[in-house]
Amino acid sequence: MTTHDVEIAIIGAGFSGLGAAIKLTQEGVEDYVLLDRGHDFGGTWRDNVYPGAACDVPSHLYSYSFALNPEWSRSYSHQPEIHQYINSVANEHSIGEKALFGSEVTHAEWNEDLRHWRIDYTRDGKSESLTARTLIGGVGPLCEPNLPDIEGIESFGGTVVHSARWDEDYDFAGKRVAVIGTGASAIQIVPQLGKVVGHMDVYQRTAPWIIPRNERPYFSVENWAFKNVPGLQSAIRGGIYSFNELVAAGMTWAPKALKPVELISRANILRGIRDPQLREAVTPKFAVGCKRILKSNEWYPTLDQDNVELVTDGIARVTKTGIVTNDGTARDVDVIVVATGFHVTDSPVFDTIFGAEGKSLAEVWSVGGMQAYKGSFVHGFPNLMLLIGPSTGLGHTSMVYMIESQLNYLVDYVRKTRARGIVRVDVTQEAQDAFNKGIQDALTSSVWVNGGCASWYKDEHGNITVLWPGFTFSFRQQTRSFDIAAYDVTTADETAAAGETASPVTVNA
Ligand code: NAP
Repeated sequence: MTTHDVEIAIIGAGFSGLGAAIKLTQEGVEDYVLLDRGHDFGGTWRDNVYPGAACDVPSHLYSYSFALNPEWSRSYSHQPEIHQYINSVANEHSIGEKALFGSEVTHAEWNEDLRHWRIDYTRDGKSESLTARTLIGGVGPLCEPNLPDIEGIESFGGTVVHSARWDEDYDFAGKRVAVIGTGASAIQIVPQLGKVVGHMDVYQRTAPWIIPRNERPYFSVENWAFKNVPGLQSAIRGGIYSFNELVAAGMTWAPKALKPVELISRANILRGIRDPQLREAVTPKFAVGCKRILKSNEWYPTLDQDNVELVTDGIARVTKTGIVTNDGTARDVDVIVVATGFHVTDSPVFDTIFGAEGKSLAEVWSVGGMQAYKGSFVHGFPNLMLLIGPSTGLGHTSMVYMIESQLNYLVDYVRKTRARGIVRVDVTQEAQDAFNKGIQDALTSSVWVNGGCASWYKDEHGNITVLWPGFTFSFRQQTRSFDIAAYDVTTADETAAAGETASPVTVNA
């Protein structure tokens, strides 16, 4: 095993990890590495290659503000183009030379005596290790596929494919297919499969609200204008952003104001489905916005196809040959597609990161759920910054905006800790508690709490620890500078005075 030391280690080379690398480079930090288990940049946009994979945030907003792309080919981008965009930004900033691809982090642990993180990872089958003063977790909440815990699924004799681990070699043409799930991934997969499969059963547990997707290709004159008309792209971006913030206000404080969205969604059902019984079956029974509002023009017409059956009876078990529902009906299939989401509040990554008291994030969060300060720092985990950490998720606009807010916070953390010779920061329990109380208070009037749905925004205790309530510009404002007063800090001088192996001398600055 080889070990080396860096100032900063970043885990994850998706939008957040890459963004951190670029900002650190621009700040003059050269001594950092980027670890990723995959083989290029892109994170979730590298891994989700299922048919139809695309973004439901308009292209102009779903990009870094510092790397606008006038060449988007469509108003909503598809996975290959976003993946290519991320890699081209990485190339432009020469981040590839900092990346250790094929590196799977297995364990990270804070060493209180040496004031650094020790990070163990495997690369090309070999165990490696490094130490870093600061660890940045950019693994993303949608990286660990959630395989449904359905009786007998392991005994299925055909193929089981998760949406985020697509088998590109599997030929679906003419096959009998079951799709479990009706979330954002399923509604993109099902219309594509519907064009080629022999027969498809779509297992719906909860019908989602789905509005039309006004996607279209850009004309070359538009791309010319995005490139050559000063401020045009930023203005379009600003318009999309502002509209989405209105939706955020409705979701957080005035769910009834989202009624027009419900009417648009109902019209989408009427337009897409002829059969009244099927229309009824796909009509959601919870307030719009409680779960992610989905966008599709093809979902309802696909369910209306002769070769597609919507199954609303609960799944009882999987057999060697197919799926049996609670009413006793058995439907045999060749392949089961599980579009059942991700481990968000219970990610296995949380079992691998250990703080100052030797406890993992999973252990610390097992009591009150995921909590951090400003979605970034967790009490007891010094010098660890999470990107897209607790309470930073969104259901209505671009996550890249939240990531860039956190990158501002990161840059100022680096500036202030370097300027003041600070070697250890740990957010105080009081600051963290007060911040999370503010989040929970803001959620009380929200559609996510009152909308009558179960969603992946809630953890096993029923707490919403994933979402940012309210306006995203408020988060931008709160992360503008690293508010050191919320942290216990230790300087290099204090460390030296106390002796290298003594307990840290901390001051609340
Ligand atoms: P998801 O939203 O968590 O949906 C999972 C689906 O599987 C739900 O319909 C769920 O039903 C169903 N399900 C889960 N376990 C089941 C079980 N044991 N039996 C039957 N049904 C089960 O996952 P996702 O569709 O992968 O999307 C996750 C997130 O990824 C999205 O919310 C979004 O943030 C992101 N995403 C974004 C885009 C985009 O366009 N930008 C595209 C894809 C994904 P219930 O509803 O009843 O729980």
